[in-house]
Amino acid sequence: MNVGGVQVGGGAPVVVQTMTKTETANLTATMDQIRRVADAGADLVRVAVPRDKDVEALKTIVRESPIPVIADIHFNHTLALKAIDAGAHCVRLNPGNIGGPEKVAEVADRAKAAGVPMRIGVNSGSLPKHLHELERENSVEALVTAGVEFVALMERLDFTDFKVSIKSTNVPNTIAANRLLSERIPYPLHLGITEAGTKWSGSLKSAVGLGTLLADGIGDTIRISLSTFHAEEEVKVAWEILKALKLRERGPVLIACPTCGRLQFDMDTVVADIERRLEAYADPVEVAVLGCAVNGIGEASHADFGITGAKNEGLIFSRGKPLKKVPQEQLVDELFKEIDKYAATKQIDVNAAEQAAGAEWLQRIEEENAGELTPERLAKLEAESARADADAIDAALTEKVTLDESASPTAGRRFSRA
Ligand code: SF4
Repeated sequence: MNVGGVQVGGGAPVVVQTMTKTETANLTATMDQIRRVADAGADLVRVAVPRDKDVEALKTIVRESPIPVIADIHFNHTLALKAIDAGAHCVRLNPGNIGGPEKVAEVADRAKAAGVPMRIGVNSGSLPKHLHELERENSVEALVTAGVEFVALMERLDFTDFKVSIKSTNVPNTIAANRLLSERIPYPLHLGITEAGTKWSGSLKSAVGLGTLLADGIGDTIRISLSTFHAEEEVKVAWEILKALKLRERGPVLIACPTCGRLQFDMDTVVADIERRLEAYADPVEVAVLGCAVNGIGEASHADFGITGAKNEGLIFSRGKPLKKVPQEQLVDELFKEIDKYAATKQIDVNAAEQAAGAEWLQRIEEENAGELTPERLAKLEAESARADADAIDAALTEKVTLDESASPTAGRRFSRA
């Protein structure tokens, strides 16, 4: 389906959407929030349309919004009709609470005539009455049944330009229900965890629930629901989930060590500062922050740029190689000078003399700390030991198969022709 020029489903990249938290009729506040979510990377934005004055505002919003606008309608189908007339790029409604199939049919007819797609769906808290008993026995099946019934209704109305959402506050139920639904219907799926919670807990619940489904290849558009007035925070979380799964790229990726007792500078402040400053960049550069240089820079050798420190000095490195040694208090500013040069030229600026001085410094730190069992070195030792165990098991199995074959009465005849 196509929402105002944004493709949803059919193999298109997973679409990021959010919802404004302002009173829609307050045009200044709503447009301000829409611009902020668009800047943060929202592909689509949804606005609540509970009153006629919101429909009035919608006419201006769809004209001025930099991204397509979805009208969110509940209970009153005439608002859905008016929202379509106002130019909404998509209408979201729950066919179970809009006043019966005739009203849904009226909206579907108007949407079809206007070429406006719809999102239909249901949340765990608003299942139709006839599914309440099933909900008590099997809430996942009840959600999926509601979704499938709504799809059947739309198909009977000869309207198929829609995506479907079935959402729950319960993460395992959301995962199970969407897995089932994706097997039963061929339409694009909108994923979300209803009332996920605060920025902290809601982001985690969404990352687990939506991330699991997206990793399975399920889901065409996502909305992160957070209890914050700042809708752009929802967009940032959505992007972090998509970037973590390598489903989409947008802006820099920051990686940072977890820190430990070897830490050589105030990582909390430095990482927060770097994260904030990176928001201004569009390039998908990977930036690493290592709390000490004891391990060398091998762990972050894939990063486009990185910093690490020891005592009063620090190192800027790039793609596994030192770039230059700098006083520790200048680490962050010097890092951003390198990122700025790269952003302007798409080239990493290497000065051979500075690189050699950095390499010498790094080698000295590594040698001084050669015996240290750091978390990274322990992980490496564990991986090597696991590999050695796996090799030993493989060798033992191969030997057993060889012995079994030579002891078998059919040994040597396995490949002879009759
Ligand atoms: S040893 Fe590893 S975890 Fe500890 S500060 Fe150094 S890089 Fe960070």
